[in-house]
Amino acid sequence: MSKTDTSQKDSSQLRQKTMIADHFTRLSKAPDTGEKCVYTYVPGNLTELLRAFDVLPVLPEINALQSGMRGKSRDFIAMAEKQGHSEDVCAYVKSDIGMQATGNVGPTGERLPPPDLLLLSYTGCFTFLKWFELLRERYKCPTVLLQVPYQGEGVITPAMRKYVVDQIRDKVIPELERVTGRKYDEDKLKENLRRSAKAEDDLVAVLESAKNVPSPIDSWFGGVYYIGPIFTAFRGTQDAVDYYRELRAEVEERVRLGQGPTTPDGDLGEEKFRIVVEGPPPWTHFRELWKMFADEGAVVVASTYTKVGGTYDLGFRHDPDHPLESLADYCMGCYTNLNMPTRVDMISNYVKNYKADGFLINSVKSCKSFSAGQLMIMREVENRTGRPGGFIESDLVDPRYFSSANVKNRLESYFQMIQQKRAAKEIA
Ligand code: SF4
Repeated sequence: MSKTDTSQKDSSQLRQKTMIADHFTRLSKAPDTGEKCVYTYVPGNLTELLRAFDVLPVLPEINALQSGMRGKSRDFIAMAEKQGHSEDVCAYVKSDIGMQATGNVGPTGERLPPPDLLLLSYTGCFTFLKWFELLRERYKCPTVLLQVPYQGEGVITPAMRKYVVDQIRDKVIPELERVTGRKYDEDKLKENLRRSAKAEDDLVAVLESAKNVPSPIDSWFGGVYYIGPIFTAFRGTQDAVDYYRELRAEVEERVRLGQGPTTPDGDLGEEKFRIVVEGPPPWTHFRELWKMFADEGAVVVASTYTKVGGTYDLGFRHDPDHPLESLADYCMGCYTNLNMPTRVDMISNYVKNYKADGFLINSVKSCKSFSAGQLMIMREVENRTGRPGGFIESDLVDPRYFSSANVKNRLESYFQMIQQKRAAKEIA
């Protein structure tokens, strides 16, 4: 890696780190500064609207996954199960409940403020509802439920859009006005949406850079860092615009130099397998799994997980000229709100357009929004693309469901199968 490239890479990573640190510091000081905090989830989040009210978002799933990556979720989950939460409950919920029971200290070691409002955009996960019921019980704070229709027929109709827009206008905005004591300022929202669209353009360029051979990025292990700001508290901010502009420039430089992705152990070396991945990563064993891929020379060139907070690569952009309509379309377009045929189309197109050798499903025990129907998806995508599917099982943040030997074995067999198919000229 050239000296220039290292410094560029460091600059986007450092920027993201600073953004996150500043955000959590602001959150920790909120009880003193009086800044209002809204807890909300990643899929279908209304960050631009929250920011228009100068409200700070808190994303419970992000705190849970951070607890998983930092080795804390095991104890948090044990604590929640001791309180009576079943082993079958989504581990994100139990990790969060455990974290709250031990003082609500967030990933940076600073205490998170209690919510002034719980805002739930209901995008395909019933657990979200139950999770916020638990938090409401704990914090006795107001709650708003935005009902987002599932894309059962694979399209967003004008009636669906109107249904969501009406709720944003008549329920969400008045509640935000009440909680913050501020009037809704549509010009401010439009400005935020304009910045979102800019950042979204750059994110798409980054994700689509993986069509190059070799791919300059890993779109799952690396991808989760790239989606961080836009899926969470920063969409609509100038920080996000700057981060994605910088990241895009770094990635384009890697393409120019013909470089592959970096891994925790340095540059990948030869790209031997190009894989599409469906499902979220196992956060408790994230680095270990990444290393298993890297040791095989396997690069993830596209993933569905990087679409849970928006399917920008399918063309959606937040639109300042239609602010509430575009928020509505965004909520309805998140990956887990899409029906099975649409998901099959997406994955099949990824396999084709990103010249993948195959696709792998990581089926996580916790998340039915993801794992329901995955075997059907696998069969369909195999039929359509002629590329082999692989299947591993794990969990999001419950380390009891990750068996290193088992996963390694399955991956090795899977990559051998691809090699055999290549040797037999069944795939190119
Ligand atoms: S079930 Fe899935 S979508 Fe729902 S809260 Fe858990 S991880 Fe998130």
